[in-house]
Amino acid sequence: MLLSLTTNSTERDAMKLDIDNHELALPCPGCGKKVEEKIGRLRTNPDISCPSCGASIKIDADELNQGIKAVEKQLDALRASFKKFGK
Ligand SMILES: [Zn+2]
Repeated sequence: MLLSLTTNSTERDAMKLDIDNHELALPCPGCGKKVEEKIGRLRTNPDISCPSCGASIKIDADELNQGIKAVEKQLDALRASFKKFGK
């Protein structure tokens, strides 16, 4: 089952949160627009192109790791808050 992230995530959904399904917003070097791409996709193929101007955007490994860490922190906080609610 594909997980869709909404602000109304249930506890069950929170436990299933998959980091690969989170999107990172990358600024386009061509037009400055933020281009969103899923972490799972960036892991396997870090080259994306901007839908607005067609410029190619390459995320470097450090940047990707930082993004993943930030998302992991958010997920931990989310899980912790759901745990509190469960008791
Ligand atoms: Zn662009």
